[in-house]
Amino acid sequence: MPLALGAGVPLPTPFDRVALPPREVHNTSAEGVCSSSWEEQIMNDLSLTTLEAGKTTVSAVAIEALMAGIRGTTLMGADSGYDEARVIWNGMIDRSPGLIVRCAGAGDVIAAVRFARENNLLVSMRGGGHNIAGSAVCDGGLLIDLSPMRSVRVDAAAKRAWVEPGATLADVDKETQAFGLVVPTGINSTTGIAGLTLGGGFGWLTRKFGMTIDNLVSADVVTAEGTLVRASETDNPDLFWALRGGGGNFGVVTAFEFKLHELGPQVYAGLVVHPFDDARAVLRAYREALDTAPEELTCWAVMRQAPPLPFLPAEWHGRPIAVLAICYSGEIEHGPDATARLRAIGKPIADTVGPMPFVAWQQAFDPLLTPGARNYWQSHDVMELSDGLIDRPRAAIDDLPGPECEIFIGHVGGAAERVASDAMAFPQRSTHFVMNVHARWREPEMDSTCIEWARGIYQATAPYAIGTAYVNFMPEDEGERVEAAYAGNYARLMEIKQRYDPHNMFRMNQNVRPASAQRAA
Ligand SMILES: Cc1cc2nc3c(=O)[nH]c(=O)nc-3n(C[C@H](O)[C@H](O)[C@H](O)COP(=O)(O)OP(=O)(O)OC[C@H]3O[C@@H](n4cnc5c(N)ncnc54)[C@H](O)[C@@H]3O)c2cc1C
Repeated sequence: MPLALGAGVPLPTPFDRVALPPREVHNTSAEGVCSSSWEEQIMNDLSLTTLEAGKTTVSAVAIEALMAGIRGTTLMGADSGYDEARVIWNGMIDRSPGLIVRCAGAGDVIAAVRFARENNLLVSMRGGGHNIAGSAVCDGGLLIDLSPMRSVRVDAAAKRAWVEPGATLADVDKETQAFGLVVPTGINSTTGIAGLTLGGGFGWLTRKFGMTIDNLVSADVVTAEGTLVRASETDNPDLFWALRGGGGNFGVVTAFEFKLHELGPQVYAGLVVHPFDDARAVLRAYREALDTAPEELTCWAVMRQAPPLPFLPAEWHGRPIAVLAICYSGEIEHGPDATARLRAIGKPIADTVGPMPFVAWQQAFDPLLTPGARNYWQSHDVMELSDGLIDRPRAAIDDLPGPECEIFIGHVGGAAERVASDAMAFPQRSTHFVMNVHARWREPEMDSTCIEWARGIYQATAPYAIGTAYVNFMPEDEGERVEAAYAGNYARLMEIKQRYDPHNMFRMNQNVRPASAQRAA
């Protein structure tokens, strides 16, 4: 059922000269980033990139009208704050949008989408800016920047949270944990809730509470027509089906409504670090221990060089290690028993497992995943950790191209498995593991070495993979893999895309093509 919110928002047409708001409304964003007001910007016509990758000239009058009609700010190349708004987590991505609209609310998003539509502009949208493919930022087109919209409102009695699309996982964790509640999300607290949710979302609590999308109750979405609609099991159910895994293909989400669960505030969590020479035995024992793991227990395996972590003896810094990252989210007093089998494996160099605040555990990996480095990922869904899969990465670790490169195995299943594979767009519901080869480095001259390292291990492990893939882990050169990633759900996604975005306005993503485009191809 469309909401009538658009009707209440002053939407200038390109030809309107509207009354301009006072200077102070426009010169500082919600995060305090200075940008030029309409009065300060010397307004010229702008040459912007179109949907078809051509160029169009947008008049200064049209841009002034857009600026006057929004609560947020606009940024162009010379403006202070422009570079901060276009830089994202993956340092490989260096794109320059022609115009950035930093949205303050759904009204601004409607205005930005209508402006893009009227001018046939290439559009990208930015939540937390973490996507490996860099799809948040376009070159020359319009960037709809949602990062100023970070509010999280919790109704503790109803166990619901309403979250704006610029919120990070840390924003969501801190607000919900203030009430002893939680949404199951991912493992790095600086990740954006928007992109993570729309791709699926899994982390330490997935086995207990399901994926992030399994806890999505509704979403407010600005469609390609510039209309705000609600999507839920009862309102626009097809759109709701597609949003849960289909990524940013169907519109701009301006609010997520999540179901909350009781948790914590402490979990029983930490790292058990082994010498890499023991990795084969450790991973085999890990595999066996997980066979009987309760749904409250999640353990990811990571292989890499040891960072200079304070709890690791100095002689281990820089040497290859195999790490078991453990989180038990049941009653704290059961933590020691629940984790005992995993912690009894081999002869670890260090074991930090114990009670800790869930909010702190969610931030534990942030220092290793800071923005700015160059990153390239290759990932597989695998059903079981066969001997071959365990053994192949060994050679890759012996051959690591840099100290920040790693291979991790994410542990999914449990509650996530009890959802039918066609219940929503996200297709892979069997208990499974997600293996991600994460090349991470600093020097541009290392690009090809690091990318080839990731591709090499990806290809060597392909025989053990099941063919689906997590779209949120796919780099920009994997567009051809999207159909396989969605397996049996792709055809329905194309039909829904046809209905909500027939001209593929939202194409800066792991793109689902409208059904008519597919038929014409
Ligand atoms: C360090 C790191 C750790 C990660 N860990 C996990 C993890 O544990 N679990 C997990 O599931 N994933 C994880 N991810 C992957 C993460 O889910 C994706 O990178 C996700 O796209 C990030 O969302 P974002 O909002 O930060 O992305 P952005 O780059 O801002 O956006 C990515 C895309 O999402 C879409 N999008 C963003 N906002 C909106 C919106 N409001 N409406 C519609 N579409 C929108 C757009 O297509 C956009 O191009 C991790 C990523 C990183 C970099």
